[in-house]
Amino acid sequence: MQILCEENITEQLFSLYNQLLAQHGHRKWWPADTPFEVALGAILTQATSWRNVEKAMENLKSAGAFTPEEIASISQATLERLIRPSRYFRMKAQKVRAFVEYIAERPMHVMFKQDVPELREELLSIYGVGPETADTIILYAAGKPSFVVDSYTYRLFSRLGWVTGNYNYEKLRALFMDNLPHDVDLFNEYHALIVGHGARICHKKTPNCQECRLRESCAYYEASE
Ligand code: SF4
Repeated sequence: MQILCEENITEQLFSLYNQLLAQHGHRKWWPADTPFEVALGAILTQATSWRNVEKAMENLKSAGAFTPEEIASISQATLERLIRPSRYFRMKAQKVRAFVEYIAERPMHVMFKQDVPELREELLSIYGVGPETADTIILYAAGKPSFVVDSYTYRLFSRLGWVTGNYNYEKLRALFMDNLPHDVDLFNEYHALIVGHGARICHKKTPNCQECRLRESCAYYEASE
C-alpha cells in the first residue's frame, strides 16, 4: 500500500476530520459499559457487522454469561451457541476463551498500566487478538492513544485518492499515528466518524456521493462524473 497524500498531511487529516464531524456530529463510541465489554465486542466484530455482534452480546447477557468469570464458568459448546450470530462462532469462542483465561491471570487494569507500545505488544501476543482488536482495546478500553483503522478507513482513503495498492493495516495506522497529536478523544471520535461515514454514506457497493460533503475532494467521485 502506498500513501499518496504526502504534503501537509496533518492539515489534510484535520480538514477531513472536521468535514466528517460536520456531516455526522459526535458519535459517542465505543458502545460498551466496561473494558471487558469493549474487548469482547472487539473480538466478536472481527469479519462481521456490529448488528451481528449485538445479537451475540444480547444472548450472552440473557444467559448471564457477560463477565469474564461468568464466561469462564460455561462450557465451550454453550459459548459457541450464544455467540453464533457473530459468525465464525467456533473460532471466536476459542478467542474469547483465550482472552478470558489470559485476563484471569493478568487482569486488564494491570495490563493497562503500561505505555501503548508495550501494551500493544502484550495484547498482540494473546491468541485471537490482531492489530485492529488490540488497538480497539487500547483506545476504547484502556483510554490510551492508539489509532484504530479498518476496512472502512481503507475504503474511504482509497476513494479519496490518499492511498493506493493493497490494504496494509500498519501503514494505514501510521498515517494517523505519525501525523496527528496522540489525543485519545481525537482518535476516539475520528475512528468512529470514519466507521459512521462508511456505514451511512460511503457504502461498499454504491456510495451515496450526492449526500457526501467530501465529494469535491474525492477522486472516486471525480472519476465517476
Ligand atoms: S464522494 Fe462518494 S466515494 Fe467519495 S467519500 Fe463521499 S461517498 Fe465516498
